Amino acid sequence: MIELLANLQPLILVGMLILMYGIENMRPYLQKAPNQKQHDLRNAGMSLISFVINGLLGLGVLVSVEWTAANQFGILNQITLPNWVEIILGVLLIDLGSYGMHNLSHRIPLLWRFHRVHHSDPNLNATSSLRFHPFEVVLTQGIYQAAAVVLFGISMPTFIIYGCIALPLIILQHSNVKWPDWIEQPTRYIFATPGWHKIHHSDDRPLTDSHFGDVFTFWDRIFGTWRPTRPEDIQYGLTEFKEDSKQSIGYQMMLPFRKN
Ligand SMILES: [Zn+2]
Repeated sequence: MIELLANLQPLILVGMLILMYGIENMRPYLQKAPNQKQHDLRNAGMSLISFVINGLLGLGVLVSVEWTAANQFGILNQITLPNWVEIILGVLLIDLGSYGMHNLSHRIPLLWRFHRVHHSDPNLNATSSLRFHPFEVVLTQGIYQAAAVVLFGISMPTFIIYGCIALPLIILQHSNVKWPDWIEQPTRYIFATPGWHKIHHSDDRPLTDSHFGDVFTFWDRIFGTWRPTRPEDIQYGLTEFKEDSKQSIGYQMMLPFRKN
């Protein structure tokens, strides 16, 4: 079952991207980008770079999962728990770590320089989901994940199950869709829904620096980093990079190294 899930992960990711791209183009929630084709192609280019690097790094992370199991290293390997409890705790720990890493990416100026590539998209849609600078992919999806696996003692089933929850959810969060309130409101007590995460893409810095949770919302609630705002009341992107000339792949790849 776990092996099947692992093999299906790339298919789930691509299938979800195609599905959400189709839905948001048929029934867009907020206004589409005026130059949508160019916007989507640029994001697709940046996503492809991230996807390839992520795939290569994934092999390294899998080695760290195997090493952790073989050496019984990390927090969860020090206690005996039923399998299902260990999986739930492992999923929570990875997500808490991601929350911390994401929060730091906003607070540490050097990390923010790279993370700005994801935030500078002025028109959020499914193609924004994987728009990251390659160096950020190396840091947060490679080095961080490998370290978190070892520190927390994450098992292979837990790692794969977390991926199967997080990846489709990340695509959902960025898609230009709106869930009906009767689904959105109760779900966001636990999960970072599309309406919840979009607030994180506001160009208003106090809102940008909120809603850090990848999968669960309770980290933001516990640490007081959430704001009661509606996506339709915000403007996406970063004010200093909204000009079309600053949205090209070349500009975005050099963005972390620019003076401003
Ligand atoms: Zn962010």
